[in-house]
Amino acid sequence: MFIGWWRETGLALLQCATATPLSQLFSHPQHRHTAPARVFSCTISVDFRTEDQNDMCKTLRVRWTIIPKTAPQPWIACGGCGGLRAFQSSGKIRLNANGRKLDAWLIYKCLTCERTWNRPILERRNVRDIGPAVLEALQSNDPHWIRAETFNLDALRHKSLRVDEFAEVEIAKEIQHETTNWTRLAIELTVPVATSTRLDRLLASELKLSRSKLQALHAEGMVRTDPEKADILRRRIRNRTVVTIDLSMETERERSWKPLATGNYAVEQ
Ligand SMILES: [Zn+2]
Repeated sequence: MFIGWWRETGLALLQCATATPLSQLFSHPQHRHTAPARVFSCTISVDFRTEDQNDMCKTLRVRWTIIPKTAPQPWIACGGCGGLRAFQSSGKIRLNANGRKLDAWLIYKCLTCERTWNRPILERRNVRDIGPAVLEALQSNDPHWIRAETFNLDALRHKSLRVDEFAEVEIAKEIQHETTNWTRLAIELTVPVATSTRLDRLLASELKLSRSKLQALHAEGMVRTDPEKADILRRRIRNRTVVTIDLSMETERERSWKPLATGNYAVEQ
């Protein structure tokens, strides 16, 4: 079953379609996917271009988009209550124009006394050098743009020696390709803003596995990652990491693994 597209999925498909010659996409006579849309086949060919068609036809492919719930909190010397305190974004931008120069700050508040701290976003920047989209976002207090900026860890670390991060995340799961008789699960992780969540913690909690079991499966080659790096499971989740799990020995693929992977717990007849 196909759940639906996100806007960025559509974009990715479009990019696939333009990047891969059609002859390459449809050159396999044994192609047996049930997906009717041509772009769909395109995705499969591009994503698994290093693997043979048989493997593709055995893979349930999903995308998890990982969104942290709480933005990082810098610790700043507070002029209100004294001492180092955690500050939280107010979601508001302050602008100051001086001739053609523009300053922009994101306003934070002390979690103890609510004294504000202005985090510089732009300093003495010539208006002509600011992209129209950024300018518009700053002038309209665009909540999406501001939210993304509150997760700008590098910028925060530049201003504060201590930045607290929060591991709690929301996960949107969508099916990208499914097939009957699948034996492998491929999870593409999309991480639009930095998260401190470790890959093994995410997989363990979402797939109801212990982390030691996960490590063992990884050591045996039953769990693979792309890119494959030493101790990748213990590191924070990186955007576009793909985790592939060989479930050919599992009998509970449809009943147990699929709902966990897809987030779809509806009973199918
Ligand atoms: Zn304070």
